[in-house]
Amino acid sequence: MSPYLNVPEIFGSDVFNEATMKQRLAPDVYGAWKKCIQTGSSLPLDVANEIAEGMKIWATEKGATHYTHWFQPMTGITAEKHDSFISPSGDGKIIMEFSGKELVRGESDASSFPSGGLRATFEARGYTAWDPTAFAFVKDNSLYIPTCFFSYTGEALDKKTPLLRSMDEVSREAIRILRLFGDNQTQRVTASVGAEQEYFLLPKDLYAQREDLRLTGRTLFGAPAPKGEELEDHYFGTIRTRVSTFMKDLDEQLWRLGILSKTKHNEVAPCQHELAPIYSTANSACDANQLIMEIMKKCAAKHNLVCLLHEKPFACVSGSGKHNNWSLATDTGKNLFSPGKTPRQNAQFLVFLAAFVKGVDEYQDFLRCTVASAGNDRRLGSNEAPPVILSVYLGDELHAVVDSIVNGSNYTDPEKSIMRIGVDVLPPIPKDTTDRNRTSPLAFTGNKFEFRMLGSSQSIAGPNIALNTIMAEELSKFADILENAEDFDSALHTLVCDTFTQHQRILFSGNGYSDEWRQEAQRRGLSDLRNTTQAMPSYASDKNVELVTKRGIFTESEFRARNEIYLEAYRKIINIEAKATADIALRQIIPAVSRYCAELANNISVKKAAGCSCKAEAALSEKLSTGTDKLYDLCEQLMKDLKNTPTGNVEAANYFSDIIIPQMDAVRAEADALELITDKCYWPFPTYSDLLFY
Ligand code: ADP
Ligand code: MG
Repeated sequence: MSPYLNVPEIFGSDVFNEATMKQRLAPDVYGAWKKCIQTGSSLPLDVANEIAEGMKIWATEKGATHYTHWFQPMTGITAEKHDSFISPSGDGKIIMEFSGKELVRGESDASSFPSGGLRATFEARGYTAWDPTAFAFVKDNSLYIPTCFFSYTGEALDKKTPLLRSMDEVSREAIRILRLFGDNQTQRVTASVGAEQEYFLLPKDLYAQREDLRLTGRTLFGAPAPKGEELEDHYFGTIRTRVSTFMKDLDEQLWRLGILSKTKHNEVAPCQHELAPIYSTANSACDANQLIMEIMKKCAAKHNLVCLLHEKPFACVSGSGKHNNWSLATDTGKNLFSPGKTPRQNAQFLVFLAAFVKGVDEYQDFLRCTVASAGNDRRLGSNEAPPVILSVYLGDELHAVVDSIVNGSNYTDPEKSIMRIGVDVLPPIPKDTTDRNRTSPLAFTGNKFEFRMLGSSQSIAGPNIALNTIMAEELSKFADILENAEDFDSALHTLVCDTFTQHQRILFSGNGYSDEWRQEAQRRGLSDLRNTTQAMPSYASDKNVELVTKRGIFTESEFRARNEIYLEAYRKIINIEAKATADIALRQIIPAVSRYCAELANNISVKKAAGCSCKAEAALSEKLSTGTDKLYDLCEQLMKDLKNTPTGNVEAANYFSDIIIPQMDAVRAEADALELITDKCYWPFPTYSDLLFY
C-alpha cells in the first residue's frame, strides 16, 4: 500500500469499463457494443472478436495470464474456472489468444452446482454467456468476465439471469405509467440498489482455535461475556488501528475494481463493522456486493484477521445483515420515489408508492422467503434485527398523507374537505438520512426503500428479483386501469385512494420488536413466518408461481428448483451444525471439564488432609459432575436423533427445525452453564470475552 493514494487515478483502473472501451476499441466496435446494450440485442461475432482482442491486450498489460467466465450459481456465491490465454504457435512457442467466441460463451460442468433437479443427469453441461451490461475486470492475474449460467435446455442455473429479466420487466411497466403522465423521453427505468454490508472481524489466531467458527461460521457454544453492547460504546466509535489498516487496504482494492465504497464505520456489536457503497444499477450492485464479500475475506486474512459474514456469529450479540436500499430511476435522471414539487409530480409519486405498498402486502410471503436461511433464522427477530413480520414504515409525514387520502380528509388545508390527487400539493417529505425506525423491516427513507431483512452472507439477487417483479406486476395492473380510463384524473384518484385503503394493514410505524405488534399483526392478518421451514412452503405457492411465470422471470421448473435448493441448503447447514455441536461437546468440552473436576477432587483430598474447609470445591465438583452427565446424555440423544433424519427435503427440514435445533440449543445451554463455573485455564477454546474484546 502506498502512503499516498491517488484515488481518482486508481478508481476503476482494473475494469474494462466504458471509458476504457472507448479508448481501446475502434469507434465502430465501441458503437456496436453500446447499441447492443441499449437495445438488448446480441453481439455480432466480428464485433465480439474485436472486443475480445482489445480486452486481452488490456488485461495482459495488467498482468493477466488467464481469463474466467465469472458466474453466480444458486449457492449464493460466485464461481470461476480459469483458462490461460496461451495457444501454441507451432515453433515450440506460444501466443496469447482470446477470441470473441471465448468471450461470449463458455461451457462448464454444471453437475457440481445445485440445480434443484433442473439439470438432467445425462446432460451435465452448463453454459455461460457474457452479460455485456456488466464490465469485465482484472483480479488476481485473471480477466474476469461476468456471465449468466444456464443449462443445455436454456434454464437459468444462476441468480443473474432472473435478476436481469426482472429489471427489464420493471422498466417496461414503469415506462407505461410514465407515458400516462406525459413523459415521452424516458427509454429505460433502472432499479437502483445500494447494499450496506455488515461483518465481524476477529483475530485469526483466536478464530483458528474454534472449530465451530471454522466449520460453521458461527459460535455453537459460548456463555455471554460480562460486557455486551449495553455501554453503546462501539457504534460509530473510533476504529482501532488494525481494523482501520484493513479497511484502508479493502477500500483500495474495491476502488481499483470500480466499486464505489463510500462509508465505513463500527457497528453496534463489538468487533462488528459496516461498509456501504454508493448505489448503482441492481445488476452492478449485485456483482459489486459479491466482490465486496469475497475481498473482505481475502483482505482480512492478509491482516491476520478473519471476516465473518454469518448472520449471527454470537448469541446475545447483534447479528449482521445487509440493508438493501432500492429505488427506481429513469435514464433521464429522475428518481421515481422522489415526491417531487408539483401536484402532477406528487400524483405520479403516489402511484408508484401505492403500487409498492400493494405489492408488499400481496406478496409478503414471497419477500419473506427471499431472506429465509438457516443463518438468518438465528438473526431475524432478535437483537437489533428486524422482526420476521413484513411491514412498511413510511415516516410520519408520508404516513399522514396516506391517512388523509384514506380518510378523505385534507392534509394541507383542513378547510377543504378532501385532498385531490393531482390537484393538491403534498407537504414536504424530508429525505431521511437517519434510521428513524430501526425496528422496521422495510422503511421509506425519503426517496428509496430500505429492505433490512437480508442476511449478511446472502446474495442480494433474490430480494431484488422479488422487489422488481412485484413492482412490475402492480405497475402493470395500474397501467391497465389508467390506460383505459375515460377520465384519467378521476381514475387516478380512485385508484390511489382505493389501493391505500385496501392495503393499510401493511403500514406500521410503531415498535416492531414488541409483543403487541406481533398480536396486532395477527389481527391484521399479516403473515408471521418464524423460520425457514415455516416460510418455504409459501415460496412456490400458486400465487407466486403465477407471478413469476406471468412476468417471465422464472419458468415454473426454474422456480420450483430454487425451492428445492434452498431447502437442501438449509438441511445441509443444520446437519453440519448438529454434528459439530456433538463433536465439540464430546471431544473438547466434556474432557476439559472432567480434567478440571479431577483437579478439584485432588485439591479436596489434599485440603481435607490438611484440615481445611473445601465447601467451594465440593459444591463446584458436584455441579460440574451432574452438568457433565447431562451434557453427555444430551449429546447421545442428539446423535441418535440425527441418525433418524427422514430422507425427503421437506421432511428433513421440518425435522431439523422441530427436533434437531432445539436439541442443539439444549446441548449448548448445558455447555455454556459449565463454562461459567470451569477454571478458564481448562476451557478448550477462546471465550466470548476473548473473541469480542481482544
Ligand atoms: P443511511 O446511511 O442513513 O442508511 P444513505 O442515504 O446515506 O443512508 O444511504 C444508504 C445507502 O443507500 C447507500 O448505499 C446509498 O448509496 C444508497 N442510496 C441512496 N440513494 C439511493 C437510491 N435512490 N436508490 C438506491 N439506493 C440509494
Ligand atoms: Mg441503513
